Parts: sequence; C-alpha cells; structure tokens
Amino acid sequence: MEHQLASQEWRPHVLAVPFPAQGHVMPLMKLCRKIADQGIKVTFVNAEHIHAKVLAAMSDEDKNQHCIELTSIPDGLQTEEDRKKGLIESLRRTIPRNLTRLIEKINCENSDEKISCVIADTTLIGWIHDVSQKMEAELVAFQPGAAADIALILQIPKLIQDGNLDTNGFVMKNDFINLSNEMPPWRRNELPWIVSSDLKDQKIVFECCQIAQQAVHQYTKWLLCNTFYELESSACNLIPNFCPVGPLFCSKISKSPASSGSILAEDTTCLSWLDKQKIGSVIYVSFGSLAILSQDQLNEIALALELSDRPFLWVVRSNLANKNGFLARVAERAKIVEWAPQEQVLSHSSIGCFVSHCGWNSTMEGLSMGVPFLCWPYFLDQFHNQNYICDMWKIGLRLNIDENGLRSSHEIKRKIEMLFADNSIKANALKLKDMARKSVSESGSSLQNFETFIDHLKK
Ligand code: UDP
Repeated sequence: MEHQLASQEWRPHVLAVPFPAQGHVMPLMKLCRKIADQGIKVTFVNAEHIHAKVLAAMSDEDKNQHCIELTSIPDGLQTEEDRKKGLIESLRRTIPRNLTRLIEKINCENSDEKISCVIADTTLIGWIHDVSQKMEAELVAFQPGAAADIALILQIPKLIQDGNLDTNGFVMKNDFINLSNEMPPWRRNELPWIVSSDLKDQKIVFECCQIAQQAVHQYTKWLLCNTFYELESSACNLIPNFCPVGPLFCSKISKSPASSGSILAEDTTCLSWLDKQKIGSVIYVSFGSLAILSQDQLNEIALALELSDRPFLWVVRSNLANKNGFLARVAERAKIVEWAPQEQVLSHSSIGCFVSHCGWNSTMEGLSMGVPFLCWPYFLDQFHNQNYICDMWKIGLRLNIDENGLRSSHEIKRKIEMLFADNSIKANALKLKDMARKSVSESGSSLQNFETFIDHLKK
C-alpha cells in the first residue's frame, strides 16, 4: 500500500537467494519461475561458481526466453576444495557485504523497480535479515526441505531446554525425538544436522540450524516451503506463518520454458530411450548431486541391476560403467547418463521404481509422479525422509545394511522384486500423486497459499 502511494509506477521486485547447492537452487528457481509467471520481476542471485554452471547447463533457447534475471555474487572462496572445508564460514562472512552491494546496484539502476522482497533460503536468512532491513525489503524465508525438518529446527531451543539435546545437537535423554505421533520420530543418527562422523562438521551445521531458527522466529512473517499441507499436516501445524506451496514443478510443466536451475547439463537422450521401454518396467537409479558411494558399493548396485533382468536408467558420474564389461553385458536393457532431466524421467510412464537417496526434492518429485521408492539415504534429512516414505506414506521400502556396511547386491535385487510385486505400495503412491496434483490445482491448498503470497507481494 505504502509502495502504491509512493509511486504509480511501483512494481514489486523479488530478489531470490538460494544456498549454493543443487538441491537448494532448483526448488527456489522453480518457485521464482512461478512468481515471474504472475508478472512479478525476479532477480535470482547465485554464488558465482554456481551461476557459471547454471548458465553453462542452459540451452541457448532457455537463455533467450528466461523470464528471470540471473546474477551472481562471490562466495569468498576460490576452489571446490576450499568450499568443502569452509563454505558456511565464508558465506557468513561475505554474504552481508556482497548482497548489500548488489541490492544497492540494482536499486540504483531500477528506481521504479527497487528490490521490495528478498526470498532467502532458511539456511541463509540469519545472515541476510540485516541487509534486507537496511535496504527496506521484506524478508521471506524459503525452506527447500520438508516441513518436518524446519519444524524440528524451530524446536531446538526447547529441545535443549528440556534436556533432549545437548548444545552440540546430540540426543541426550531418549533414543529418539518425537514431535508428534503423526510424524516419524528422529533417531539419534537421523537428525538433519548430522552431516558426517566428524564432530567439527556437525557443530558447524548445528550452529547454522540454530541461527536459522532464531532468524525465522524473529524476522520473517512468511515461511514458504516445497511441501503441501495434506502431506505433512502435523508438521505444518507446528510452524507459525507457514506457507506450503509445493510440489514445485519445473519448466516443462509450468508456463515458461526456461531452465529449472540445473547445474549440470541434462542428457535428454534417456527420454527417447524410455519411450522404447514397456510401461512401468524401468528401474530409475539416482542419488542426487552430493552423495558419494564407495567403489564396492557401486559394484553391488551394478551387480544387482545386472541380475535384476529389468531395464534400468542409472545416473552415475563414475567410470564404473565401463569396467568389467558391465556396460557390454547390460547394453540391451540399460541406459547410463551423467545427469538426467529427472522430473521428466519420473513422469515417464515406463518408470516402475525409483532407487533414491531420498533428498527432499527427489522425494517430492517421485511422490508427485506416483513412483514407488527403494530408499538409499546418505546423510542429513534423508533418513527422516526415508521414514516418511516407508513408515508414514507407505510408498517405498528400505534396504538393510550388511556386516560390511554395504547394501548388498542380493538385498538390492530382492527389494526391487518386492517393490515391483507390491500392489499396495503402488496404490498408495498413486493416491499421493493424486493428492499432490490436487494441492496445486484450482482451490488446492498450495495454490491458494501461493495466490495469497502473490497478492501480498503486489500490495
Ligand atoms: N536431479 C536432476 N538430474 C539428475 C539427478 C538429480 O535434475 O540426474 C535433480 C533432482 O530432480 C532434484 C535435485 O537434482 O531436483 C536433487 O535434489 P535432492 O534434494 O533430491 O538431492 P541433493 O542433490 O540435494 O542431495
């Protein structure tokens, strides 16, 4: 309202700031494209190295038709090795200054389209609220993971106070944390800040969660999330100002044709390969952008896929596929790519199951397409997502780990067969797909939330 009085010409302008990792960039980009479809100007700011990769992965057509301004700021680091060690610390140090400069520059160049709203990843808002306040832009939080995840993070002070957690994020009192009987509990090793066995790493991530908790609590009136109310109602009910707007779909489904923020070029040849396979026959295997599997573990998967006698599409960035004649033996029924257009793959009628690391984006994509899961969590929130999939929604199976710490080829093959034979899992998956579609269709909960948010942005 104030803006409207200030200038007849005033137009909202959103600045979106994701955490620099694939699983954070993609859902925020999808949200931004929906916002831009509503005629609102959006500038999307990536860390420089991510920005370069997003541009390199975009087709020329995408670049020409892109409805969002893409820009970048430095993250203060030079190499991938530095990033592995010090990304969070460097972002904390550099984001406030770099973002302030960027907003000043944008505002100076666009006096009728100054940044009016900053939508920032929940991981970053603790370092951004001062900037947005100074620049007179509203701060909105975006949670790319589950509602359960942020519900747990928002409870951290209470969990410490009640003696359930210590100040490093370790479970103290019971063997698990339970926020509601309608949500899976978190066992000791399933908390979203458990990133490795290194205590130092865990402390950094836990501290980051605490900063996010304080900032969400104090500085934001809107917390947008890539989930839908019917999927996680008890988690949603625990969070003030919560606004689920998912599932967020990519370009091929939304109106505008541009990129979904992928940082690797998608190998679309797998789509024509899928066209040639029987309906519901293909095993799709993908572990997202971060999980690293040992050579022994990759060998077990390869053997399981070979023994399964089913067609499979495997996203793998290792050279394993050329070893031991594996590729030659499975050539008839296999497709191996370095990066797939995953949403399109999952929506293809030939897909029969999804062997997944259960990253939240993959979880939302698989369930929105009605695909049963074989769960292979790696770290962070992925164990809790597995519990949702297997215990709460009953749309997948988990894999047992053997005495060598591996998911054996025998176990993988056995569970794949069980999954293909299980009609109730398939029926549950189709029910969830229907619920997901309804939530973003006319009068659906997520669509209504999104429209309310857009009305707010335009005021
Ligand atoms: N993805 C993709 N092509 C692939 C593998 C993954 O486009 O070959 C996308 C996938 O659709 C998802 C994102 O990468 O949107 C991965 O996010 P997720 O939260 O599942 O896992 P993360 O990479 O963060 O572990």
